[in-house]
Amino acid sequence: MVMQRREFVRLMGAGALSLTAAPYVFSKPIDGGADPFMLPELPYADTALAPVISANTISFHYGKHHAGYFSKLNKAVKGTKHADMTLEEVVAAAHKDNNGGLFNNAAQAWNHTFYWHSMKAGGGGKPSGKLADAINGSFGDFDQFTAAFSKTCGGQFGSGWGWLVQDGAELKVIGTSNADTPLVHGMKPLLVIDVWEHAYYLDYQNRRGDYIAAILDKLVNWEFAASNLG
Ligand code: MN
Repeated sequence: MVMQRREFVRLMGAGALSLTAAPYVFSKPIDGGADPFMLPELPYADTALAPVISANTISFHYGKHHAGYFSKLNKAVKGTKHADMTLEEVVAAAHKDNNGGLFNNAAQAWNHTFYWHSMKAGGGGKPSGKLADAINGSFGDFDQFTAAFSKTCGGQFGSGWGWLVQDGAELKVIGTSNADTPLVHGMKPLLVIDVWEHAYYLDYQNRRGDYIAAILDKLVNWEFAASNLG
């Protein structure tokens, strides 16, 4: 399909909020016909992250969970004021209106797209340039950042997410529960790890710490994180 700008903007929320004005390089959406929101394609093959994250995990996590959030989101917004909003606007509106059902599906649709882009084959290592300077400025050095990020991701009770965010001039690591997202807390996401059990249980069972360490070591997409730095 030829992607229309309106669809791209709606999906990505480019410029919808000042928080997210950075030009995210999200992958193009899969044609969803008449659906207001379209699941973006994975930015790599489903085998690309193996053996850290198997194609089997991705088949369920992307193909069932992420797709499912889009499916429920589309059912919820059809024929409502939310159908013409960007995804980020739906997240913000649902949060403001205390519409938990809509918020959960919209935020999970957004969070997962951000998660897929937070990783790449041959990632890991250390950031460079301005992002490295910002990390050193906020955490002391890269090892202290890694320790703080690993602790936050590993210590998140139950389902949720571990984020590196920009909060004003500071970088912080924060955990959010369930579908909660820094977008509605005035913070700009730079990087995320999904720590719901569905993200790692097929490959790591209960060893969440091993999953987090392997992502940091082999998959983190520091170029994506740097591109989000405002
Ligand atoms: Mn997930």
